[in-house]
Amino acid sequence: PRLHIGLTGGIASGKSTVAAELSALGAIVVDADALSRAVVEPGSEGLRRVREALGPTAIAADGSMDRAAVGKLVFADAEARALLNGIIHPLVRAEGRRLVTEAGPDAVVVQDVPLLVESGQAGAYDLVLVVEADPEERVVRMVRDRGMTEDDARARMAAQATDEQRRAAADVLIVNDAGLEDLRRTTRRVWEQYVTPRLQGSTSGPH
Ligand code: ATP
Repeated sequence: PRLHIGLTGGIASGKSTVAAELSALGAIVVDADALSRAVVEPGSEGLRRVREALGPTAIAADGSMDRAAVGKLVFADAEARALLNGIIHPLVRAEGRRLVTEAGPDAVVVQDVPLLVESGQAGAYDLVLVVEADPEERVVRMVRDRGMTEDDARARMAAQATDEQRRAAADVLIVNDAGLEDLRRTTRRVWEQYVTPRLQGSTSGPH
């Protein structure tokens, strides 16, 4: 790629919103969450290995991975969690690498990686964008939009890096403290400031 951007932020901070705007501006977005679902889709080698590692309770009646059952299993069992991560993470990384290569030399590629900081990957990108939002707002959104309990929402946040840790890894901090249109506008400004200059002088521009 011409420019390889890592996008991260805490749960419900606004990453998907920023990614969608970057896509509208011409970036190719590689979404780690979507990949982590794709690598265990029904019939996949990934799902076969999950079944082998965790047993038949990992598989729902329709042949897909039973996310609720697997979630419960690995929450209670660190060894099972390590097994699952050992299957899924390498597959996600390999598929991500494949998509980045496929995007080609002129593309602006944005990888949306929720645990970019936690997994120590900041150095792998030309530019790291961090989206930050007020933790209390994020709890409200998780409870309101995703049917999570407040305790679940807080537990999910507590299991991630802190805002300070993400800030330390950021080349650009996007503060999501106003409305969605404001967030999109900020994203366009970041593009103009950090991406457009990198594209000038290229013959074919981004795809
Ligand atoms: P996840 O980590 O769970 O994938 P995310 O970081 O991708 O979440 P989004 O999906 O972009 O976050 O945002 C979470 C929810 O909050 C969405 O429903 C989004 O529309 C809403 N939201 C984000 N920012 C704002 C804002 N500034 N004002 C109002 N709603 C917002």
